[in-house]
Amino acid sequence: MAIYQYRCVEHGITEVRAPIGTAAPAWPCPRCTTDLRRVFTAPLLGLAPRALVSAIDRAEATASAPGVVTSPPPRRPPVAPRNPALRRLPRP
Ligand SMILES: [Zn+2]
Repeated sequence: MAIYQYRCVEHGITEVRAPIGTAAPAWPCPRCTTDLRRVFTAPLLGLAPRALVSAIDRAEATASAPGVVTSPPPRRPPVAPRNPALRRLPRP
């Protein structure tokens, strides 16, 4: 299910729950029965976990103010594969 929003000039936003991809281009206002126009919004931003929202904010911030890197990231030690057959393969 998805939440689709429709805007009435007089009564504001009306939310309609419907299966994904089945949103009608117009919806009747529950108060005045005029046809409402659909409002397009970013999905899940109100319901997303805080870590996801902060990651999206950091990614958007890099578009206008990229971070400055002064050194390469530290090297991580190689990790042995869990599958014993893969442990015999040559490593870089
Ligand atoms: Zn209305």
